[in-house]
Amino acid sequence: MKDFRYIDGVAILQLDAEACIGCGMCVTVCPHRIFVLDGKKARIADYDACMECKACARNCPVSAILVNPDERCGCATLIIKGWLAKLTGKPAAVGGCC
Ligand code: SF4
Ligand code: SF4
Repeated sequence: MKDFRYIDGVAILQLDAEACIGCGMCVTVCPHRIFVLDGKKARIADYDACMECKACARNCPVSAILVNPDERCGCATLIIKGWLAKLTGKPAAVGGCC
């Protein structure tokens, strides 16, 4: 998945380091390896690779992660369109994820 990224600087992803208990669940579930454990706290290591799938926020036991709260948004569709275009050699379908 590392070759399929969304646009830099647009993801809405926030980590409350104070609330984090260092369980590592976000590191495990994130398909883009956005988080790393730094001591006993999670840290965002690759912010711009986030596709707002919300797996991290849904699995954090202390709600320390906020991902774009707009249910219509999320960049997985756009990434998949780019992936299909690369595989098929056809131009990506027009339109973003929302
Ligand atoms: S929203 Fe998805 S891609 Fe972004 S940090 Fe969370 S698990 Fe990773
Ligand atoms: S899932 Fe939540 S509590 Fe666990 S390491 Fe990640 S941010 Fe911290």
